[in-house]
Amino acid sequence: INEANFSNEYATNLSTLAASMAHEIRNPLTTVKGFLQLLRPHLIELGREEYADIALEEINRANEIIHEFLNAAKPTDHKKSIIHLNKIVRDTLLLFESEAIIKNTSFSIKLSQEDPTIYGDDKQLKQVLVNLIKNALEAIEPNRSSKENKITITVGIIDDYSFINIVDTGLGMTKETINSLFQPFFSTKKSGTGIGLSICKQIIEEHSGEIKIESDVGCGTKMQILLPIKNN
Ligand code: ADP
Ligand code: MG
Repeated sequence: INEANFSNEYATNLSTLAASMAHEIRNPLTTVKGFLQLLRPHLIELGREEYADIALEEINRANEIIHEFLNAAKPTDHKKSIIHLNKIVRDTLLLFESEAIIKNTSFSIKLSQEDPTIYGDDKQLKQVLVNLIKNALEAIEPNRSSKENKITITVGIIDDYSFINIVDTGLGMTKETINSLFQPFFSTKKSGTGIGLSICKQIIEEHSGEIKIESDVGCGTKMQILLPIKNN
């Protein structure tokens, strides 16, 4: 047995274990949630509606963490292939059309004439894009007009790297947030899990790439993914 095989096997076992653990936690949570819903009218009678609401919210949050964790731990078969960034960006953006309308936000997309390609796992890269676009949408302030609420996605090339920029006109971030955002479970959102960006970082580093951030409070955020170009 060589070392590479050994560590691969080890990783698979760990993620299988993580997946079954997550399922085992989910089941009791579902039971508790059911009973809480049954108790809710009684708590309201007692003037304690907020207890029920907080408890249900927290259970939903725990479920969300497990869900995101399961997605990340899912053993992918690590099928790497040549990926066209224009195409993957276009495909991923389709998933957000209705959410953008709800959030009063307009997407604009600038694809690259050079049609840059990289070598990678398309499911994982889609997951990165989904997480970044989700964050951009969550940063948008819904009370503003769709002229002010913009998310711009650009695909391009710098030197030996191709890039995807996701720029939003949302809340922006403080220096403290920028310094902490890749930490697992770091979140400034009321019901955030703080898992999204730590997964993104891991995936992009596995692809020998990098994520760069520029952000200003009140102005918005630019997230840039850089990935080495590979033509065939
Ligand atoms: P979550 O979205 O669950 O909070 P993430 O790991 O995706 O977790 O993001 C961590 C934190 O980074 C967020 O809580 C938020 O403070 C900050 N953040 C990430 N993306 C943006 C963005 N586009 N605009 C403003 N803040 C952001
Ligand atoms: Mg997120």
